[in-house]
Amino acid sequence: MSIGLTSAARAALLAQVQDIYARLALLPFEHSCTGLSQCCRFRLTGRTPFLTRGEALLARQAARSSGKKKLPPAPDGSCPLLSPDGRCSIYAARPFACRTHFCDAAGGPYPRKLVRDLIHELEAVDQLLGGRGGMGLPAALKWASDQTP
Ligand code: SF4
Repeated sequence: MSIGLTSAARAALLAQVQDIYARLALLPFEHSCTGLSQCCRFRLTGRTPFLTRGEALLARQAARSSGKKKLPPAPDGSCPLLSPDGRCSIYAARPFACRTHFCDAAGGPYPRKLVRDLIHELEAVDQLLGGRGGMGLPAALKWASDQTP
């Protein structure tokens, strides 16, 4: 199912998501993610990041750019974007949740009040793309793949 946007409109929405990520990085919140990637191992943590549609399209686009045409589920339940070397294959385009829900070792999650406005902006983009809120990462990537077979 196509989302029925021109490529220019779609590119503008993805640029908006990137701008949200850039503004998140400017917020005054101390953290120390060292890329241990424990949070990318969903079965281990019991938690899966939720993505809005704009984030999912951006992540899928980045995965394609990095050479990943298909994203089969990992046998160990890890994120399909986790590389065999244990690094995120789309780190610069990783979703909002991957940037804010830090593990305890990295300083814990961002305070919700600090990121609430940015989340609302992501939700607004999601609605423009026909979404109704975040989806778990595997389902969100599947949706994004279906938009650009
Ligand atoms: S998108 Fe990257 S940072 Fe987020 S869970 Fe997947 S591998 Fe980890």
